[in-house]
Amino acid sequence: SNARMYNQENKVKVKFKDIAGMNEVKEEIMEFVKILKNPASFELLGAKMPKGAILSGPPGTGKTLLAKATAGEADVPFLSVSGSEFVEMFVGVGSSRVRDLFANAKKLAPCIIFIDEIDAIGRTRSRMTGIGGGNDERENTLNQLLVEMDGFDSSDHVIVLAGTNRPDVLDPALMRPGRFDRHVTIDKPDIQGRKEIFKVHLKPITIDPNENIDDLSNKLASLTPGFSGADIHSACNEAALIAAREQKLSVQKIDFEKAIERVIGGLEKKSKLLN
Ligand code: ATP
Repeated sequence: SNARMYNQENKVKVKFKDIAGMNEVKEEIMEFVKILKNPASFELLGAKMPKGAILSGPPGTGKTLLAKATAGEADVPFLSVSGSEFVEMFVGVGSSRVRDLFANAKKLAPCIIFIDEIDAIGRTRSRMTGIGGGNDERENTLNQLLVEMDGFDSSDHVIVLAGTNRPDVLDPALMRPGRFDRHVTIDKPDIQGRKEIFKVHLKPITIDPNENIDDLSNKLASLTPGFSGADIHSACNEAALIAAREQKLSVQKIDFEKAIERVIGGLEKKSKLLN
């Protein structure tokens, strides 16, 4: 079908301050905010502006959040789609969806397009196509994406961000100048990063008044090596659910510890399934 396949948010509320840590990454991304807010100052100097960036990092490290906050900071619409949604069995559907997305972005400009799981369409094109070889339809979609990236220029004021946890499989053609010019790597948070992310996600929770937030987030950060921001978010939520189930008036350290155990259990199950 030709129905609109992407999500559109005209007024994005997420800001950089909602993202804990990642200061260097935010600084790199700030360039796009500046371009979107004041393209004239770049054009005046004759600068060739970057069209987009690949954000790569493990699942749940905040790639989507970062892309969204870029739109929030620049105060421009945010169009998002998952690469896997482009991959269809029917010939021509993927590429027509790409065309539709870019045509609308140009109408809405200045704006940001975010393609999550870009690897679903952006894997290296195979030399062997046909049965068991490549995937012609996916390659058509990728080719259309390349055509679209080449087809607009910086005066269109559309920035394309793309997320992936498999940067290694991406077709190098995506990274050519004038396409995804920037490559931003997002790592899992270290202990300090986890502490800051805990602080963000503890904020909306009613915590035991005997608890000191700074000490609590320190403690929780030390219990959660390997956690992504998304894991931390779900641990905080799980802790509140546990406390609610026990009809407590506030969430205690013990609830967080139980919740963390649970998230670790879930992560172990997931890694067993993968191995
Ligand atoms: P995926 O690869 O699975 O799409 P992602 O990298 O796009 O994941 P997000 O969807 O942006 O990850 O993050 C999931 C959630 O994790 C966010 O909505 C947020 O609640 C939390 N989160 C991740 N990183 C951070 C961070 N640095 N600060 C605060 N919250 C974070």
